[in-house]
Amino acid sequence: MRLSRYFLPTLKEAPSDAQIVSHQLMLRAGLIRQEAAGIYAWLPLGLRVLKKIEQIVREEQVRAGAVELLMPTLQLADLWRESGRYDAYGPEMLRITDRHERELLYGPTNEEMITDIFRAYVKSYKQLPLNLFHIQWKFRDERRPRFGVMRGREFLMKDAYSFDLDEAGARRAYNRMFVAYLNTFARMGLKAVPMRADTGPIGGDLSHEFIVLADTGESQVFCDRKLVEMPAPGADVDWNDLQSIVDERTSLYAATEEMHDASAFEAQTAEADRLTARGIEVGHIFYFGTKYSAPMKAKVAGPDGADTEVHMGSYGVGVSRLLGAIIEASHDASGIIWPDAVAPFDVQLISLRPDAPDVAAACEQALSRLEAAGKAVLYDDTDERPGGKFATADLIGTPWQLTIGPKGLADGVVELKRRATGEKLSLSLDEAVARLV
Ligand code: ATP
Ligand code: MG
Ligand code: MG
Ligand code: MG
Repeated sequence: MRLSRYFLPTLKEAPSDAQIVSHQLMLRAGLIRQEAAGIYAWLPLGLRVLKKIEQIVREEQVRAGAVELLMPTLQLADLWRESGRYDAYGPEMLRITDRHERELLYGPTNEEMITDIFRAYVKSYKQLPLNLFHIQWKFRDERRPRFGVMRGREFLMKDAYSFDLDEAGARRAYNRMFVAYLNTFARMGLKAVPMRADTGPIGGDLSHEFIVLADTGESQVFCDRKLVEMPAPGADVDWNDLQSIVDERTSLYAATEEMHDASAFEAQTAEADRLTARGIEVGHIFYFGTKYSAPMKAKVAGPDGADTEVHMGSYGVGVSRLLGAIIEASHDASGIIWPDAVAPFDVQLISLRPDAPDVAAACEQALSRLEAAGKAVLYDDTDERPGGKFATADLIGTPWQLTIGPKGLADGVVELKRRATGEKLSLSLDEAVARLV
């Protein structure tokens, strides 16, 4: 991609209402533009990152056995009346009336709709277990939309819903999502800690929030330090028996403020391991039994032929919120430092003299070789001065910068810089390309 033909509207200064660094950098790097409170347009660079994050989330859901579909953003109010949530949900729900005076709503979540789909088709325990997910825009009319995409009103969520014959089956489904989430966030370079979360009126202990520690996080959290450094289990696990992996983590203390028990924390955790911090909720998994299947009559015939209400769980990931969380975790004074797996481009190719034929030829050669190897390259072929080009590259956080200029070429070298460390290497063009592919 040639920068001269791209659309990358960067800003020198962040608007003063952007309070936290991720919001400031997302605006300055031209990732998003606010169109209304909590409602954003995704500019080309931001969209590339969003799609990468979405794809990692999707791959790990599929690996854990979930099946993708896509439900609409608009839902009928009557469906929500079946569960009793139409009236209970309150002012966070955006309610809409169409030309026929039918009541609709912009979905804040999809338990009712997925239960409706399930009950229409699934009639036997033999079709279980089943886990269906989608990645779709949600709307919640948040009282205080803020921090950019971190607390938007319109936001992208991955939500999965599991269906099982009994609680034991639902627990296995829950464990699969638990492990999938650990792997998902690790692939994005994040340390997300599963913490006991409030299950509300349903009770039980099967709800965890996945929290990324950050000073700007909105949640107060308490956990054993050892959990933060524990590596993700990876893909090579026995997906049919994950209990020991889950137990290893849930046996260590970790709770959000609503669930915090100071005396249990002290009894369970050595003083040196006690961590009190702020955190960002990037995911939330939940087992809720028959809360929706009972009122909505989602039943299957069990092995004995008798109809039973299915046991369900739901599993959310804040896909758009993750951009903010990743930037909070990975930036410096010059800008964003994208982890390789989510970077919008792999390499920023910087031409110091686009008007010099030998420099242009070397850049074209580098571009075609990198692109042929499947690398996404942003080629800065503009006539901006070098300082401005370096500043833009640092700001937008491309993991590698490959700089080609007349002086270096005369000596047979180009410069390769790693954004994360600032390390710079003088290499021949061949060596530089070989390192990048
Ligand atoms: P919060 O406590 O931050 O309000 P929540 O508990 O209401 O979030 P859930 O219903 O658990 O959210 O939704 C699943 C995930 O969707 C959350 O873990 C979070 O990552 C994301 N999410 C929720 N609300 C928003 C929002 N307003 N903007 C962006 N992402 C959100
Ligand atoms: Mg909320
Ligand atoms: Mg929450
Ligand atoms: Mg939650």
